[in-house]
Amino acid sequence: MGGPSGRSDLWDLVILGGGPAGLSCAIYACRGRVKTLVLERMMPGGQVVLNAVIENYPGFPEGLPGFELAERMAQHARRFGTQIETVEVAGVEVSARPFRVLVAGGDPYQARAILIATGSRHRKLGVPGEKEYLARGVSYCATCDGPLYADRGLMVVGGGDTAMEEALFLANLASTVTVVHRRDELRAQRILQERALAHPKIEFLWSHVVVEILGGEEGVRAARVRHVVSGEEREVPVDGVFVAVGLTPTTEFLPPEVRCDEAGFVLTDGDLGTSVKGIFAAGDVRAGSYRQIAFSVGDGVLAYRSIFRYLEGQE
Ligand code: NAP
Repeated sequence: MGGPSGRSDLWDLVILGGGPAGLSCAIYACRGRVKTLVLERMMPGGQVVLNAVIENYPGFPEGLPGFELAERMAQHARRFGTQIETVEVAGVEVSARPFRVLVAGGDPYQARAILIATGSRHRKLGVPGEKEYLARGVSYCATCDGPLYADRGLMVVGGGDTAMEEALFLANLASTVTVVHRRDELRAQRILQERALAHPKIEFLWSHVVVEILGGEEGVRAARVRHVVSGEEREVPVDGVFVAVGLTPTTEFLPPEVRCDEAGFVLTDGDLGTSVKGIFAAGDVRAGSYRQIAFSVGDGVLAYRSIFRYLEGQE
């Protein structure tokens, strides 16, 4: 397999996204002497970076901060020669071979095979005030923004793992945390539910949705919530609203030839191949992912096996 060094060269494998799936694939690919480039728009690690503590990744019984696990994975990939570049992928051309990966403000990269490992992003609530007060009281990341709200009253929206982890993290800093969930039962893992329900600083507002975020010059001052059955509305005074209502896949840059499900997650076969031969998908971005770090790591390794076989078949 070839020996490229720049954009105009032909890469065996270009991995889109430097999260656990992309970096795991890169480690295996570089050890397998597959010339591999990882394109990542931010810092390597993906959503992992946002986790205050990862405590369900095997081998770290004490838990470790998300950014540290991400940094270790990136170091591990670099150790075997992975090149990681910070660029935003704007598109992928699949009509000819090699594939072309388009990036904003630069020449395209050429790839014999591509792994889509772009993960997912926070879903928005889509209510008035959410955009207006972004970074002025509205946040999607407790570990990033939580320390700005010491001793303040906060709200977390959602009932999944992320919402519980965010509520627990914020409860250590804030005066109170009100969790607003649209049902009367949480979706989160049992251990997180138990911790959140038992926490003295966390209150639950069951069967409610946020319909508006209110504020002024100083930022957020309240959220208007509505009971999903009675329709009754009221204002809850808070200084910050942390939105944790799930994820949407980062696939808007993909061409229509790469088939996705209705929610935008990439459809794959059992070997993680997509509807375009030579393009594979792994991790949170693919339909059917369990959305766990360990699962994405496994996905990256499985993708590598399929990519290696594909590349060998091309020689
Ligand atoms: P999620 O599991 O999809 O949960 C989203 C939550 O937001 C659900 O409770 C959902 O309510 C609620 N919701 C969705 N849309 C809403 C809306 N428009 N208004 C109000 N509420 C809304 O998302 P997540 O918690 O971000 O987790 C994503 C994935 O990552 C999951 O697979 C999760 O297991 C994984 N994860 C794992 C860990 C861990 O293992 N420690 C940590 C974080 C995330 P319903 O319940 O009614 O649908």
